Amino acid sequence: MTDLTAYRNAARAWIESRVAEFGRDARRGLSPAEDLELGRRYLRAKYEAGYSGISWPKENGGQGLSPTEKLTFDREEILHGFPTEYFSISLGMPVPIMLRYLPDGWKQERAIAALRGDEIWCQLFSEPAAGSDLAALRTRAIQDPDTGDWVLNGQKLWTSWAHLADYGVIVARSDPGVAKHRGLTYFWVDMKAPGVTVRPVTLAAGDAHVNEVYFDDVRIPDAQRLGPVGGGFGVAMETLIIERYSATDPAANGPSIARAIADATRMTRDGRALIEDGRVRERIARNFATQAALAAIHRRALLSLEAGTQPGSEGAIHKLVSVRNRQRLSEFMIDIQGVSGVQWNEQATRKDDWATSWLTAPTGRIAGGADEMLLNTIAERILGLPQDHRPDKGVPFNEIPG
Ligand SMILES: Cc1cc2nc3c(=O)[nH]c(=O)nc-3n(C[C@H](O)[C@H](O)[C@H](O)COP(=O)(O)OP(=O)(O)OC[C@H]3O[C@@H](n4cnc5c(N)ncnc54)[C@H](O)[C@@H]3O)c2cc1C
Repeated sequence: MTDLTAYRNAARAWIESRVAEFGRDARRGLSPAEDLELGRRYLRAKYEAGYSGISWPKENGGQGLSPTEKLTFDREEILHGFPTEYFSISLGMPVPIMLRYLPDGWKQERAIAALRGDEIWCQLFSEPAAGSDLAALRTRAIQDPDTGDWVLNGQKLWTSWAHLADYGVIVARSDPGVAKHRGLTYFWVDMKAPGVTVRPVTLAAGDAHVNEVYFDDVRIPDAQRLGPVGGGFGVAMETLIIERYSATDPAANGPSIARAIADATRMTRDGRALIEDGRVRERIARNFATQAALAAIHRRALLSLEAGTQPGSEGAIHKLVSVRNRQRLSEFMIDIQGVSGVQWNEQATRKDDWATSWLTAPTGRIAGGADEMLLNTIAERILGLPQDHRPDKGVPFNEIPG
């Protein structure tokens, strides 16, 4: 048995021992506050069992193992619907980037608090006019010449879990007189500081985990700057590639193929199971074929990590195709259920309900890179096609028409 197989077996045994207390069924019917509390308890249990920060250095509360062990654990964990979503941004990017840039001491305390689920960080990048094009952001950071403090003014948008967050990482424009990528500076911010207002945005399926965040004369000391003045775009790019490869679910967080087969076997039309209809079987089989191809891409990335090399841009293919595939299968499964397919169940999750899955798929096609941006990545980095037209390249930000 290889070391990795032994690690997988031990992780699987620990995860399975926690399903009854923290898994999908345990969460059914909980209020948002109760579910968050369950999530915090799960993270504490995970920390104590040595499965938190698997690939982080030990001095930061991690386990000092490789990304392969982390992916192996995550791949097992993803199957059970544990309440981990509140912490995914926090532990995915803001805390690791903070650990790279801030001096020792305080940062380790924050990291351990985040690993234990006691504190949450958010990522304040996107704005109303700056999502795909992060360098277009308008939130201003002006340095007070007397104190060296920075004064933040502006609005962020779509900030996941900002309403629960204790801290956030933020990029702001510190110099509008230079090209858009060069006038940005990166900070961490206390989300409870005076002048920070968080307003949840309710999404189509009724959940409100994304927020608008307003900054009105929020003062932050220069010690909260990460990286050089004017170097914020580079730190932001570094933040976005920290989690180079994360565990993926070929069903893209929707119901599984096994579920589609079970439902089509149970459902009948004119006294016959729907699964007996060749057209139904064909649609499910096509979806399965795509998922199998995605699983192969993921396996290849895992093998390149194990071999010590970095996977390439195949993550873009995985995300683009898997979410579209989930949306397509969900729509089809709603369709074959007839009227009952559109019955709304507030307690349902996107993993176990076709309507919820379908309604939440569009945000999955936007967050973390919209479809068209992923197509650009595939065109430029995988197919080697010429770069997109960028007419504002090198133009000072304040000369770009607003
Ligand atoms: C559920 C959810 C959670 C999110 N969480 C966070 C978070 O925690 N922190 C954070 O900072 N942000 C977050 N975001 C924001 C997310 O990163 C942005 O929504 C995303 O980058 C797209 O930006 P946009 O919405 O401004 O769309 P735009 O950039 O305005 O794009 C709109 C559409 O225009 C097209 N388009 C734009 N540019 C191009 C181009 N160059 N080539 C081709 N087509 C183009 C595409 O069709 C795109 O879908 C979240 C978003 C969602 C939906």
